[in-house]
Amino acid sequence: MKILVTGGIGYIGSHTVVELMNLGHIPIIIDNLVNSDIEVLDRIEKITGKRPIFEKVEMCNFDEMHRLFEKYPDIDAVIHFAALLLVEESVEEPLIYYYNNLTSTINLLQCMAEFNINKIVFSSSCTVYGEPDNLPVDEFAPIKPAMSPYGNTKKICEDILTDTVKATDIRCIMLRYFNPIGAHETALIGEFQDGPPHHLIPYITETAFGKREKLRIFGNDYNTPDGTCLRDYIHVVDIAIAHIAAIERMMKNTDKNIEVFNLGTGIGYSVLDMVNAFETATGIKINYEIVPRRAGDVEAVYADTHRANTELNWKAERTLEEMMRSAWKWEKALAGEK
Ligand code: UDP
Repeated sequence: MKILVTGGIGYIGSHTVVELMNLGHIPIIIDNLVNSDIEVLDRIEKITGKRPIFEKVEMCNFDEMHRLFEKYPDIDAVIHFAALLLVEESVEEPLIYYYNNLTSTINLLQCMAEFNINKIVFSSSCTVYGEPDNLPVDEFAPIKPAMSPYGNTKKICEDILTDTVKATDIRCIMLRYFNPIGAHETALIGEFQDGPPHHLIPYITETAFGKREKLRIFGNDYNTPDGTCLRDYIHVVDIAIAHIAAIERMMKNTDKNIEVFNLGTGIGYSVLDMVNAFETATGIKINYEIVPRRAGDVEAVYADTHRANTELNWKAERTLEEMMRSAWKWEKALAGEK
């Protein structure tokens, strides 16, 4: 199958491209290179032995998108990753976030409708659940007001897709990711970042590496077993594989117009559990201190994965130890070590 992968050289996108290519599919990657690195193409080629098709496209420019679809009218399905995704930045620059994440999605859907490409897998996030009333949280849980413009763009894109599916032939699977971590086993692809990390695991690995003196743990007075927040951390390769399961499901099930699946392991780990898991997996001690809560943090969120396990026929398989080992290997690779 020919699959258009928007944001296909980003963190989750690049891992998905590798899995698609391993199965013999042909990804067509588009990216505007605003928060990604073209060098990832070389790395994908090193892993798979083939260079994926790449087009530099600004999705917010309708004409550029239209030209892309004219060039590749025989796309079978789309996986839409491309988005700006930094929570704090979105608070400072809401208009840039709304403009980018919504316009790109609208332009994509307009082109899909015009060119009769009717299958899309959308990257959504557990952020739409906010602080859930019940745990584990399932796909029927109410959508809560977003904590950030970034989170709101995910919610609005879900609404745009839902309405578009009602009005057109387009069908959609929305995948709500919990906390993707880790990297490819080769340590050739992983999460690149400019400047300080945005998530817990790179803070842990940078502290282990000595780039940081201490990990700061945001609050130990939450209503959880050890007082630190609970999250559902999942290996990025498991997330990537779920996209292929989603595409395969859309190819088979022509009666389902829109479906939503949680992508998690179903287990809630605390921040301290993650520190311990890293120490056990690598034998390296993490220097940490407890600091006050971080504004906007949800106390606990982990997935009910029943739907994805049964309907999508997919299950997260990689262990917490594998997640930590791969994250550590990636950190060392970033620093140029073997
Ligand atoms: N966290 C922390 N110290 C850090 C970064 C994150 O204690 O330096 C905590 C954060 O408060 C949250 C968990 O780790 O409870 C996961 O945070 P992350 O930013 O990775 O994901 P998200 O908040 O989006 O779930």
